[in-house]
Amino acid sequence: MMSGARIALIKGDGIGIDVADAAMQVAQAACRQVGAPALQFDEISAGAGYFAETGQDIEPGGEERAGDADAIFLGAIGLPAIRHADGTEISPHLRLRDRYGLYAGMRPVKAYPNAPQRLADPRAAGLDLVILRESTEGLFYSAAAHGRSVVVGDEEVRETLRITRATTEKLHKFAFRLAEKRRARGKRARLTCVDKANVFTSMAFFRKIFDEVAKEHPETEVGYNYVDAQALDLVRRPWEFDILVMENMFGDILSDLAGGLVGGMGMAACAEIGDQTGLFQPAHGSAPDIMGQDKANPLAAILSGALMLEYLAEKTGIVAYGRASDVIDWAVEEGFDANRLRPKEFGGDMGTRAVTDEVLAQIGSPS
Ligand code: ATP
Ligand code: MG
Repeated sequence: MMSGARIALIKGDGIGIDVADAAMQVAQAACRQVGAPALQFDEISAGAGYFAETGQDIEPGGEERAGDADAIFLGAIGLPAIRHADGTEISPHLRLRDRYGLYAGMRPVKAYPNAPQRLADPRAAGLDLVILRESTEGLFYSAAAHGRSVVVGDEEVRETLRITRATTEKLHKFAFRLAEKRRARGKRARLTCVDKANVFTSMAFFRKIFDEVAKEHPETEVGYNYVDAQALDLVRRPWEFDILVMENMFGDILSDLAGGLVGGMGMAACAEIGDQTGLFQPAHGSAPDIMGQDKANPLAAILSGALMLEYLAEKTGIVAYGRASDVIDWAVEEGFDANRLRPKEFGGDMGTRAVTDEVLAQIGSPS
């Protein structure tokens, strides 16, 4: 049998450890079910807990091993009580994002039957969109975290919004490929460029490159929206959107807004993809308020595992990983549909273990 894809597994802190275990157990079961080669894990110690023990935020050589694997899976990192001496949070994963240029941040937002719904309109039940957020430049490029803020005494602070052709072209190409893949699954796939091109030269540039790439993809329907109008539309008629592509900070804000329309933090999956590798993680943090209580909803991590398998199918050419990904998506959908998935997060009776077991039961054993 072919050797399986190599996963750098960083469980991290708090509930990250439990949901990462759950997600990888489900991913492995899905691989077994469809006859895909078993995933091979290279576990890397990192996070606030590791820092408290060792004074380092990731084990020596860990960053390199993460980049060498076919993909990185991360639970969650950081604990409010454990920080660097200067007060900043323990965040080795942000270095991974920079080091490996993980420019394409993907946040699917999907409504599941029997899961909480903020919007009363029945059309919200069909909500199924993806926010694609550039994740290495934009306004975050010069933020304090990168030490590039310009502070003029106590009088002024300047931070620069940076849009490069190289990254923006890659992002938009990624967006159009995503649209093609969605269409191949029989889904609607209109691609909307979200910007503020009427005010900022940088944003006009972002849109110009979008148009250049769009010319090569006449089969994909495109649209445009200013970010302020998009915020309004995400609340008024989100079911009309399929894929939204945008600059880093706009994506930071709108992905939380969109995530808030459906489910809770425990449903928000996330992928960050670059040229060499991809990092997959639930969008939530380590949630120290509920850690160790079997309360965390593992579905965000489990769905991130499905995103990882889809990525692995393309990267390794092992098509069975794509089927494993579909099996997980299907199991979650079916579980909600039949009301067999009732996470405590939404007032249900099922903790981390019970939700995981239900997804495993739905996936079944190889026939
Ligand atoms: P970060 O700074 O890493 O984003 P945070 O402190 O902003 O972390 P989270 O750790 O994401 O926030 O938690 C925010 C809230 O959502 C907490 O009250 C937490 O209990 C809840 N929460 C987060 N993830 C889950 C989950 N998987 N299941 C249930 N509740 C969750
Ligand atoms: Mg947060």
